[in-house]
Parts: sequence; structure tokens; C-alpha cells
Amino acid sequence: MGCCFLLHDGDQSAMIDTGLVGEPFFIRRLFRRLNLAPQSLKAILLTHGHLDHAGNLAWLKDWTGAKIYAHPIEQQHINGTYPYQGINRWCGRLEAAGRKVFGTRSAKIDEFISDGQQLPFWGGLQVLHLPGHTLGHCGFYSAKHNLLFSGDMMASYFFNAHRPWPILNSAPEQLNVSAEKIHSLKPRWIVPCHFDFLDGDLHRRRFAKLFGFADWGNK
Ligand SMILES: [Zn+2]
Ligand SMILES: [Zn+2]
Repeated sequence: MGCCFLLHDGDQSAMIDTGLVGEPFFIRRLFRRLNLAPQSLKAILLTHGHLDHAGNLAWLKDWTGAKIYAHPIEQQHINGTYPYQGINRWCGRLEAAGRKVFGTRSAKIDEFISDGQQLPFWGGLQVLHLPGHTLGHCGFYSAKHNLLFSGDMMASYFFNAHRPWPILNSAPEQLNVSAEKIHSLKPRWIVPCHFDFLDGDLHRRRFAKLFGFADWGNK
């Protein structure tokens, strides 16, 4: 459903998000292929606590011993106790059903992250607090690679690139402000968590179009 990213650098690595179902198989296989010990994973960076991103959080933490880095507000999402309001309640209902079906366990955030913070992974990652989808939703920006992992600011499929569905957003009025924050940073590549092809240039153009940054998209 969603993508996770293994960022490998030297003798340590970090993982962005953990997926919902099936990822333990793929993640184990990836580590074997790259000849990495589970213990080489030093951090699990969470864009936000929705079930399709945090579904395997407890498993990955147990398997690797890595610390979980996330915005403090996301702990309630991870626990399944976030007080959803209005149509956003449907998100909570879907997650509650998913938790039952998949037997999802909660996990505790070890390190709280905040806007502008520099993290020492993959040559340096900057936390970009991008509220709207959830209140503690964060992106991770690599200046070294000029690339932004944009979490759920958008989904980017060739048949339908779109903003996150309204029922999934806890503070939709903040989405445009967060998009403007990305626009002022102008990363060369954007990599969302839901996409079909890994093409950061294409995703950046789609992002620019979706949020109305005509001056940026085609360059
Ligand atoms: Zn989400
Ligand atoms: Zn998602």
C-alpha cells in the first residue's frame, strides 16, 4: 500500500516508514541481499503514524533494535487513540478494522523530532514538519541529494496523482501552508510514500501541479 525506504550509508542505515502488510518479508529479504545485519539499522524515521506507515513499527523495532524517530503528536496515531473528528473519523474506523485484521502492535517513539532538526543519517536529513494530513506529519529532506521524502502530502500514480483523500486529513486547512514550505525549499526530487514509479522528477512536477506552483513544475 505504501512505500518504505531503506537509506544506507557506510556501515549504518535508517528506514523511513514500515508499511502495513507484507513488509517484514521484503525487508528481511532486502537486508539479506545487501548483506546487512538487522542491527545495522540505527533509526526508524516515521513520516506519520497512520496504520499503512506504522503497521510494522513494533516488529521492525524488535527485529533491529533501532530507535523510532517521530513527531510527538504521532504517538496517539501509533497507539490507535487519536481523537479523530468529523469525516476524519472514517480514517480512525478504517485503522481500527485494520488493527484487528493484522494484529498491529503499538510501539513507543524513542526520539521526538521537530521542524528544522538535523538528523545524522544518509549524509544528513532535515526534518520538515508538514502538518495537515496529520498534525505531526513530517517530511525528510536530504540537502546532499537535493531530495525530499514528502510522506503523504500527495499520492502520485500515473492514473491519478492526488492530494490525500479528505477523510484521511486531520487538519486539511494546513496542507497548503505545508506545500508552500516545500515550494520555498524547492527540492530537485520529491519522493512520496504512495507512487507507482520511482521518478523524483516526475513526482516533483506532479506536486507542483497539484498545489498550483506553475512557476516551479516544468523547470
Ligand atoms: Zn497517511
Ligand atoms: Zn499513507
